[in-house]
Amino acid sequence: MEAASGGEPPPPPPSALPQPNSSPPPTPTPTPTPSRYESQKRRDWNTFQQYLPNHKPPLTLARCSGAHVIEFLKYLDQFGKTKVHVTGCPYFGHPNPPSPCACPLKQAWGSLDALIGRLRAAFEENGGKQESNPFGTKAVRIYLREVREGQAKARGIPYEKKKRKRSTVTTATIVSTAAAVITGEAGAIDGNTNRTGVSVTAEIV
Ligand SMILES: [Zn+2]
Repeated sequence: MEAASGGEPPPPPPSALPQPNSSPPPTPTPTPTPSRYESQKRRDWNTFQQYLPNHKPPLTLARCSGAHVIEFLKYLDQFGKTKVHVTGCPYFGHPNPPSPCACPLKQAWGSLDALIGRLRAAFEENGGKQESNPFGTKAVRIYLREVREGQAKARGIPYEKKKRKRSTVTTATIVSTAAAVITGEAGAIDGNTNRTGVSVTAEIV
């Protein structure tokens, strides 16, 4: 005769999370989910935090300057999806090029501008002082402006509502001679623009 089967009862299943003793009963109202802006801001902040130690040489937030922020923005360009034509491209200044070209994809100015706004806020929400906020420096503002102007020219998209009616003549010409442009005529290119908006770093001190 063997000993009675059964023995010990199976251990209880791991119960749910331990409950704090003094928590109030949950209220029936649903907790407000963070807004898209808030969660995007958190993601951006995390991305930047991860970028710092991977920087060569590694950076800390305290040592981060406006020039480093600009470096970060340029680093992000590799993940961009916005075609920015170089001055030598026949589609420079074309809002809707008729065929693909080899020009690089970059982050659109609007994305960078919004990103900097979120990071600037996150920096101060995480204990940073306004006067030492690298995202609010003049260098970053200048860089963003150069990107905006460079992309506006390269993509033929005006970001400002300025009355520059004189240049609309060129637009009309481009439309009417679109077929000629496809066949390789480069005469429609605005020849006096040789700045591409991405050559700022050298001047940042
Ligand atoms: Zn191009």
